[in-house]
Amino acid sequence: MNTYHIHITGQVQGVGFRPYVYVLAKDFGLTGWVKNSIDGVHIVFNAEITIADDFYKTVLEKAPRLAIITDHHMKSIENQLFTGFKIDHSDENGLADLLVTPDFAICPDCQNEMKDARNRRYGYPFITCTNCGPRFSIIKALPYDRPYTTMDSFLMCPDCKTEYNDPYDRRYFSQTNSCPACTVRILIKSKNAAGDYGKINTDNRFEQIDLITSFLDNGKILAIKGIGGFLLVCDANNSSVIKILRERKHRPTKAFAIMYPDTVAVQRDFIVGENALELMIGPVSPIVLLRPIPGKKPHICSELVAPHLSRVGVMLPYTPLFDLIMQSFGKPIVATSGNLSGSPIVFENHLAEEYLGKIADVIVENDRDIVIPQDDSVIQFSDRSGQKIILRRSRGMAPNYVDGTLDLPHEQILAVGAEMKSTFAHLFNRILYISQYLGDQATYETKRVFEQNVRHCIRLFGSKPARILHDLHPGYLSTQFAAEIAKKDGISLYGIQHHEAHFAAVLGEHKLFGTDHKVLGVIWDGVGYGTDGQVWGGEFFAYQQGKINRLYHVPYFDFILGDKMAREPRISALSISSNDAQLLDMIREKFTRTEWSVYQKMIETGTYLKSSSMGRFFDAAASLILGIDRQSYEGEAAMMLESCATEVFLSDHSEKKDYLQGSETLETDVLRNILKGVRFDLQNGLIQGQIALNVHYSLVMLIKRKATELGFNQLALSGGVFQNALLADLLIEELGDTFTLYFHQKLSPNDECISFGQMMHHIFVETE
Ligand SMILES: [Zn+2]
Ligand SMILES: [Zn+2]
Repeated sequence: MNTYHIHITGQVQGVGFRPYVYVLAKDFGLTGWVKNSIDGVHIVFNAEITIADDFYKTVLEKAPRLAIITDHHMKSIENQLFTGFKIDHSDENGLADLLVTPDFAICPDCQNEMKDARNRRYGYPFITCTNCGPRFSIIKALPYDRPYTTMDSFLMCPDCKTEYNDPYDRRYFSQTNSCPACTVRILIKSKNAAGDYGKINTDNRFEQIDLITSFLDNGKILAIKGIGGFLLVCDANNSSVIKILRERKHRPTKAFAIMYPDTVAVQRDFIVGENALELMIGPVSPIVLLRPIPGKKPHICSELVAPHLSRVGVMLPYTPLFDLIMQSFGKPIVATSGNLSGSPIVFENHLAEEYLGKIADVIVENDRDIVIPQDDSVIQFSDRSGQKIILRRSRGMAPNYVDGTLDLPHEQILAVGAEMKSTFAHLFNRILYISQYLGDQATYETKRVFEQNVRHCIRLFGSKPARILHDLHPGYLSTQFAAEIAKKDGISLYGIQHHEAHFAAVLGEHKLFGTDHKVLGVIWDGVGYGTDGQVWGGEFFAYQQGKINRLYHVPYFDFILGDKMAREPRISALSISSNDAQLLDMIREKFTRTEWSVYQKMIETGTYLKSSSMGRFFDAAASLILGIDRQSYEGEAAMMLESCATEVFLSDHSEKKDYLQGSETLETDVLRNILKGVRFDLQNGLIQGQIALNVHYSLVMLIKRKATELGFNQLALSGGVFQNALLADLLIEELGDTFTLYFHQKLSPNDECISFGQMMHHIFVETE
């Protein structure tokens, strides 16, 4: 008999790991203990070597649903004596209690119980267990314990209490435990003829679901409180209610997500890869962008749901309430964040009427309060190579960054990210917390929610950041916020260049820091403040000898008219086409005579900002190829370009042409030469999708040429442009054999990764 020590790292705290090990150890007849610590779960026990091996294997194989094991090992230690097997609740410094687990979708066991008429939780819309339910969103203070959550006002009934205290029960220490006897309550309010909300008097949970279903059937818009906030929902087959929703929400074209009742219904309408399916039915349960089965029309009003796009965002019911509603309604519903376009998601009962009153006919509240708002996470997979691309990291994925092997310092640092797609990162005692997506800080409301979330995080950990990292852009609200805190608390400020932060983020995800690594960072996005004061966005960096250097950027073009340029792709087309008479001829008709002469003069003076933005280049190409001259949100034109190019790419007879092949003035004219190729093919009557595909292909070839020329065989890709799934497929197909490619896997390539990148840059990148 020897004593063994098993150490497991990853997302193993707060997911029912200790009771799981306890029960298993009892089954094996072992003596010893299991406990949580800051660096994972530790198990110490006595056994014969063969039994120890068997136990170790079983612990790993049958780990709880929510556990993510990143590393593990077992070793023999000095012999000790134990009586029985215990769960050790002690933790020398209490730090393990500071790990915050995300909110999780309903688990299959709870789903079955909820549908079982003999079960005491039959039809109960707030059923949870240690394997599912909210966490992050309901935490008021740490440790994660019922009195510190918004479940504190609900008293457990005797039956629930018994489950809570039984290590053999799935609800042992389940902080969200409740049942119809000690229920979380639903309140339904509906608008009367005068437009005022009136409470509907029914406490019966079955009647409530019937009511909600009938509202959906009757073409009403409902605001229903989910895990991270209110979702606005309506019948996805009713075109008139979808049109009304678009009008009331001030969201003319941006796609809506759809919730389907179950996987069978999803697979009837869409191509669902294995990876996508696994994610959708798993604990994260995000929105996944799916392509309709060719030749079949999905059972939704597709053109109104996702205008001009070939993919639709689809999710499954991730809360018991949504599951009950979807079973009863039986058809897909539109399910979009409860907000006005551009504002943060509404999550408080008392603000629902005020903010959503102009949109929703019916409000469905419940009295389990939300502390931390979150939108639904959004993920896509590229069509050919199945490359995973995170478009929004929020519910189910935020906040902790699980990577036991990242060598983080014992320092307290706050990184406030960028401005659009804002997030923040917080380091405390080697716990790296990366916030959920917090919206575009364009409005006062978004800024307020951002600051609230930062303060909540600092309060949770009781931390006192000693440094604050921010973007170099002086105008960003996040930069100003950083300066305010720094001044108030006397902390040092560090500015980090936007695209270097992107690069550091992808390097950090793949742990590529250290002097033996040599990586080319291809960082393409919309806008970022450069160290020369210009608007960067088409950058090539070297990571070498521990340092980052800018080696190349696509040629600068004039950045005129500020934000208007991002809203009107025709302006990018004009700027990039300058000096080319034939291209200019082609786009002249997009402008009035006055506009034309004013804008031309601006470019001629040459005194405006310069830009290497690849986001604006995609706008220019979309303006030329598809005639999109105005867009209602950033990236719309680029998404449409990707969409039509992908259709040709996936067809049997796609060819690819490199518009830069043989061009002589490569360095200075790269972008313009691609547009010249576009013009040539348009005049020869080539179809739009083929030309759009050629543009994508030319860019991939540009990356290949540059990487070869600069002598790199490892490429790291980041920036909003790499949300483009076609680009990922082409990179993998054309470069995958000769280059090692690093894509983001845990974070989004868009500006959501900036806060993490700032942190990685500050810790791991050497600066002069
Ligand atoms: Zn469960
Ligand atoms: Zn109960």
